[in-house]
Amino acid sequence: MVVAWHRPTKAIIHKKAITENVANEVSRLSDKELFAVVKANGYGHGAVETAKAAEAGGASGFCVATLDEGIELREAGFVQPILVLNMVPVDALTLAVIHDLSITAGNEEWLEHVTGYLEERHLEHPLKLHLKVDTGMGRIGFRSSVEVNAAVNYLQNSSVLEWEGIFTHFSTADQADTSYWEKQNKRFLEVIENLPELPRYIHSSNSATALWHEQAPGNMIRYGVAMYGLNPSGHELAEVYPLRPALELVSELIQVKKLPAGEGISYGETYVTPKEEWIGTVPIGYADGWLRKMQGFSLLIEGVYCETVGRVCMDQLMVRLPYELPVGTKVTLIGQSGEEEITMQDVADQMETIHYEVACILGPRIPREYQE
Ligand SMILES: *Cc1c(COP(=O)(O)O)cnc(C)c1O
Repeated sequence: MVVAWHRPTKAIIHKKAITENVANEVSRLSDKELFAVVKANGYGHGAVETAKAAEAGGASGFCVATLDEGIELREAGFVQPILVLNMVPVDALTLAVIHDLSITAGNEEWLEHVTGYLEERHLEHPLKLHLKVDTGMGRIGFRSSVEVNAAVNYLQNSSVLEWEGIFTHFSTADQADTSYWEKQNKRFLEVIENLPELPRYIHSSNSATALWHEQAPGNMIRYGVAMYGLNPSGHELAEVYPLRPALELVSELIQVKKLPAGEGISYGETYVTPKEEWIGTVPIGYADGWLRKMQGFSLLIEGVYCETVGRVCMDQLMVRLPYELPVGTKVTLIGQSGEEEITMQDVADQMETIHYEVACILGPRIPREYQE
């Protein structure tokens, strides 16, 4: 994928915001470490630069989703613990050992395959594993204390596997109704209580759990979306402390014209100028993750909301301007302009989704510009 450096559309990432969000959370944690979750290219913000910003705020480790994401961090020079939150194909595990990446184990059968594979390879170090407990997410993990303890026993007797951690994941920590959260918490506590010994890391908190369930068990938290300045619950729960959004999405007007009444705009002629209007063209479209659902959404130009008229194209969209503006005028798609602000949540509301998704689908074509 080639990055469109020669186009005025860019995402500006404020690293200080990430550092501040992490530092604010670290200051609330008396006896827990913070691992920054930088999977999916740092939720679209860029994994390596985000990890640096999080490190500056006090993160002592990182979580990623894939082996390759872990290798990216190692190649960038990070020496902290890195946990791959998913299971990894057995034949890729040599790389996990070489790069000292900790891997998630979710069932006994996988452990047995891994053992057979590693025993044949005679690597210098054992593979570090975190056991995942499925307490009600229904995704991956051991389902009971009996299963977990069998796995622990298996690891204790293995020379190629090292038991480094145990964890679970809550599915409703971002909701006001805490009943299902409590059910999951109870299950996890039972598993921990029944363990024959405790590993180095015990963890259960994503951002929402860290923010709204401080009492959650563990000595480490997996801090993701809140680090980017986004409220994990969307509109549902109030922020515990102000989260500072890290990403700004901006572009420029590349053409401005005055149209008479009755002119069609974009594919399908879904918008026809009702009167004489100034129309501006902005070089961003659905190929950049700015979906067709964004038709009708207002962008900010000089602090004034300007509606997206007609369909969003693959690479461009059109806005109705309040008055004639010069080509090159800044357009804010996410961020502040004058007294006004468009948040990632506003975009998510328009797309009828969550801000996590908006951040992740911002296309690789959009350059990320980092500000210290
Ligand atoms: C993505 C992820 C996190 C981070 O979640 P946020 O809601 O972004 O804080 C934590 N744990 C696991 C297992 C994850 O997959």
